[in-house]
Amino acid sequence: MRALGVVELSLIQGEGLMICEICKKPLNRTEWSADGTLKSCPNCSAHSNKKQHVYYHYPEKFGTTPMRSTPKHPEGPQSYCSSCRAEDIPDLSQAVYCEAIDIKK
Ligand SMILES: [Zn+2]
Ligand SMILES: [Zn+2]
Repeated sequence: MRALGVVELSLIQGEGLMICEICKKPLNRTEWSADGTLKSCPNCSAHSNKKQHVYYHYPEKFGTTPMRSTPKHPEGPQSYCSSCRAEDIPDLSQAVYCEAIDIKK
């Protein structure tokens, strides 16, 4: 693996890329709980006031589409939660934060 350049490093350390303070992964990355019943919404995670991944129940809050089918998730999970896709205000009362769940390693 090549070393990170100065620009990339400053992006990681700066405020441009937000890192989850629990799992230390970028907030705009989709994460799954260990049992696969919770999925993070990259949009909610980046915009919640906690610096943590925001998870919702999957597939209820996300929905699926054959266009997003992958070998790992053949049903095709939507990346954003249904609220974000509808450009609604996300219902964070149903959110599960990174600190509360087991992350898929
Ligand atoms: Zn996290
Ligand atoms: Zn969302």
